[in-house]
Amino acid sequence: MKIAVCVNHVPDTEAKIKISSDGKSVDTGGVNFILNPYDEIAVEQGLKLKEKFGGDVIAVTVGQEINKETLRKALAMGADKAVLIKTNVLCDSYVVAEALKNYLQEINPDITLFGKQSIDYDNAQIPSLVGEMLNLPSITVVVKMEIENNKVICEREIEGGHEKVISQMPIIISVQKGLCEPRYPTLKGIMASKSKPIEEKIYNLPENKVEIVSLRLPQSKSAGKIVGTDVSAVKELVRLLHEEAKVI
Ligand SMILES: Cc1cc2nc3c(=O)[nH]c(=O)nc-3n(C[C@H](O)[C@H](O)[C@H](O)COP(=O)(O)OP(=O)(O)OC[C@H]3O[C@@H](n4cnc5c(N)ncnc54)[C@H](O)[C@@H]3O)c2cc1C
Repeated sequence: MKIAVCVNHVPDTEAKIKISSDGKSVDTGGVNFILNPYDEIAVEQGLKLKEKFGGDVIAVTVGQEINKETLRKALAMGADKAVLIKTNVLCDSYVVAEALKNYLQEINPDITLFGKQSIDYDNAQIPSLVGEMLNLPSITVVVKMEIENNKVICEREIEGGHEKVISQMPIIISVQKGLCEPRYPTLKGIMASKSKPIEEKIYNLPENKVEIVSLRLPQSKSAGKIVGTDVSAVKELVRLLHEEAKVI
């Protein structure tokens, strides 16, 4: 089975984000980058499929030289091959999807796995865009997945419940937390990942369709107020919640 996993290189969830002086990009100085947590789940699912059905897991990312760090993590977890599709500028979801489409058309995977969303820009668009571009079925927010008789049977997480769906391969899948627990790379895996070559690709890509006009950080929260520490504070607390916070 040929399994592709699309992985993004994103700021660490713990990183303190600063906005650059242009007001519309992130200042990456001092920011630690990680493999997008949802994509870690996708890599794990790819490895599980390989263990069950045989084949290869190919990790692919769109971005710059620095994205190789993320590809090395996927290799250390056990991916067989890694590919960097090089771009110079910050691409929107459409352009990233176009880049991925070009590569996926070359290798024709049976299954292409994505995270449900990238925790940097949170668009949650790329898996469905790629599915449309390749005219393939796509199933999103998958929390359970099985393959029987060449059919993919998935459970999707939807508001207030789960939905079970079935489709054929080749297919695009985006994964949600709960599908599986990503493994920690072993020391052997980490050492081996350092010597595995990373293939580089460059495509003629279209212009972005969406332009970032500005970025701003959420307003900082005001300091909390201690009304009292025993039951005598309840009356005043209720008054404040009613008259000031207007939540009751
Ligand atoms: C500081 C910073 C610098 C950046 N610099 C560049 C740059 O130089 N060049 C560039 O092309 N982009 C760059 N990006 C964009 C970034 O790499 C993503 O492509 C973009 O954030 C996608 O976000 P999204 O919300 O549209 O993805 P979503 O649609 O939310 O992503 C869903 C899934 O699609 C897959 N996916 C998303 N992005 C990628 C990707 N890049 N490669 C492979 N799979 C992916 C993952 O499986 C992900 O879980 C930068 C982003 C940041 C925050």
